[in-house]
Amino acid sequence: MARIVQKFGGTSVKDIDRIRNAAKRVKREVDAGNEVVVVVSAMAGTTNQLVEWTQTMSPLHDTREYDTIVASGEQVTAGLMALALQDIGVDARSWLGWQIPIRTDDVHGKARIERIETGELGRRLAAGQVAVVAGFQGLGADGRITTLGRGGSDTSAVALATELKADRCDIFTDVDGIYTSDPRIVAKARKLDRIAFEEMLEMASQGARVLETRSVAMAMNNRVRLQVLSSFVDVPGTLVTDEEEIVEHRVVSGIAYSRDEAKITVEHVADRPGVAAALFGPLADSAINVDMIVQNVSADGATTDMTFTVGRADLDRALAVLEEQRKTLGFKALKPDSNVVKISVIGAGMRSHAGVAQLMFKTLADRGINIQVISTSEIKVSVLIAADYTELALRALHTAYGLDEAG
Ligand code: ASP
Ligand code: MG
Repeated sequence: MARIVQKFGGTSVKDIDRIRNAAKRVKREVDAGNEVVVVVSAMAGTTNQLVEWTQTMSPLHDTREYDTIVASGEQVTAGLMALALQDIGVDARSWLGWQIPIRTDDVHGKARIERIETGELGRRLAAGQVAVVAGFQGLGADGRITTLGRGGSDTSAVALATELKADRCDIFTDVDGIYTSDPRIVAKARKLDRIAFEEMLEMASQGARVLETRSVAMAMNNRVRLQVLSSFVDVPGTLVTDEEEIVEHRVVSGIAYSRDEAKITVEHVADRPGVAAALFGPLADSAINVDMIVQNVSADGATTDMTFTVGRADLDRALAVLEEQRKTLGFKALKPDSNVVKISVIGAGMRSHAGVAQLMFKTLADRGINIQVISTSEIKVSVLIAADYTELALRALHTAYGLDEAG
């Protein structure tokens, strides 16, 4: 007997038929004698609609009310899933975040889980009842309902798996696993049987949208065995696991891309100590994340250009913050560019292999693609290029690193 968390994403519970279909996957685990916790997202599109209504009602809304509204999508699917299970003879009960409770801080709209009181849930599981938990929500320190940030049901699932010491956490989605690159763009992309936590973390944070980044970090820290699989086709998915469990040795595991970036060049800032701090301090104070950075060589010895990226959604705010500092910083011009894409080559094997970045640069150079900004980590090389070259760059790199599907 095992204890399993099964999480169904929005497309897997999109309508009544799909909820019935998902319930069958749950029943299979129950029939095999396992204890099952089901975590559900809202029906696909529902959360977007709820966010839109909130925005329309009040563009600068009170985030406590935002949470009251957007958390409702998961309440509906939790109840429907419990009914679908009961209909096929499975003892099931729905649970909202506050009923368990899943305790969070009170950062409404992006709350963090602090503690889950699993006592009652554990007793019900032991008695053979399936717990259907509304994902994405919790009970804030202020006693009000909170949500965990978009895509947060993955985190709900991993947090429950951690707390309940589950043997496995299955994430059901509309793709059948993690691919070496986006199969909609790279036709030769392959499904990976396994991927290391660290690699998955980079893939998720570099733009692969299958798993929410926070949930991967949490699974990694708590050693939760994660599996990503399709709720529509019955094939094995991708296991996200410790590096040591991966037998196939490869240097690069995947190539991700993100169109969520925007580039800002600050022209002619003084080339003296303290300038970077003066530039990035106010951005940090405004909670704007800066990702890639280059400082260009100083042509005249007195001033230099700084280029960096921020999230595209933060671009206007970043420009406004910098404009306010124009006097202090003394720059000449601010040049924004959102027609860019970040391409990342990811692989744990990079730690022990040289030349990975070089192959990336050469492959792009051979296609005449100009690299605007570069950043690296231990297991990742990212470049910023013009968005028009996204497809060409992804395909060329996929081939260059030997990731293309054989035959
Ligand atoms: N329904 C929420 C969203 O769309 C949470 C989730 O699906 O993970 O962001
Ligand atoms: Mg999701």
